[in-house]
Amino acid sequence: SIDIRCHENLSSSWRHLLPRPSFDSHKYRRGHVGVFSGGTTATGAARMSAMAAARAGAGAVTLLSPASALAVNAVHLTSIMLRRIEDPEELSTFLNERELASVVLGPGFGLGEKVRNFADVLLRFTSRSGRRLKVVLDADALTGFAGDPEPLFEAAKENGGGTVLTPHEGEFARIFPDIAAAAELSKVDRARQAAERSGAVMVLKGADTVIAYPDGQAAINSNGTPYLATAGSGDVLAGMIAGLMAQGMPPFEAACAAVYLHAETARSLGPGLIAEDLPARLPVILSAYLEPPAR
Ligand code: AMP
Ligand code: MG
Repeated sequence: SIDIRCHENLSSSWRHLLPRPSFDSHKYRRGHVGVFSGGTTATGAARMSAMAAARAGAGAVTLLSPASALAVNAVHLTSIMLRRIEDPEELSTFLNERELASVVLGPGFGLGEKVRNFADVLLRFTSRSGRRLKVVLDADALTGFAGDPEPLFEAAKENGGGTVLTPHEGEFARIFPDIAAAAELSKVDRARQAAERSGAVMVLKGADTVIAYPDGQAAINSNGTPYLATAGSGDVLAGMIAGLMAQGMPPFEAACAAVYLHAETARSLGPGLIAEDLPARLPVILSAYLEPPAR
């Protein structure tokens, strides 16, 4: 069945699921998020994702960085923790020793074997360890599978419904070329077919963003603003989704909430918005949708 919910009543589908800390909560109970940094020039993207996850309410965020970017990341981080991860073996060790609730892979990460191998380790961790890990794949973690996306879909299916893919139209066409080329399909149907094929929640971004679940549920977010058309805004969205999921929000509702709140935050900033303003402003917007913690 088709369940299309537009933004006028979208908040009723997720608002009651926004995470509220219990009175006696502690940082790890509020969810620990891991965000992967690239090694060279585009490290700011991962730091913006990490800040967004923290501002969305995650209790702890660790930036996972190769040695080549440790120094630059260390200079630019305060509340975000930093840990060196070089290869898939170190990644597996880290996942086994630290209880991460969610991760973001892709922003500024770089292309090639490494991003594919990291995605594979992350997506298969839940079935291998029995511990749930929710995974947001964006940017290079999508483009890295261009031309050969089957391993991505296979691993995402193994992770069950805990995977969120956040392509813009260009990234979408690289991993779903046939769906992108099907002129008869609406954007909603393209997102739904991609969600079904990959077993992941699809966040197909743009001026209107469509969120689709593999079971056919879909939502259209139409409160976007063109001030979001600025470098880094997508990296912030990926971090927000991971931050909400880390606190226990289900993936589809976390994606709907993040897309809506991301756009509301941008609207409240308006002209001159740059991506790093979004995490800083998010708490003001969140507090309008969230009851204060109960005593
Ligand atoms: P990315 O392309 O990964 O940088 O992500 C850009 C973000 O900004 C996504 O969340 C898009 O939905 C949003 N965005 C980009 N252009 C527009 C637009 N013209 N109107 C509304 N939202 C936009
Ligand atoms: Mg992007």
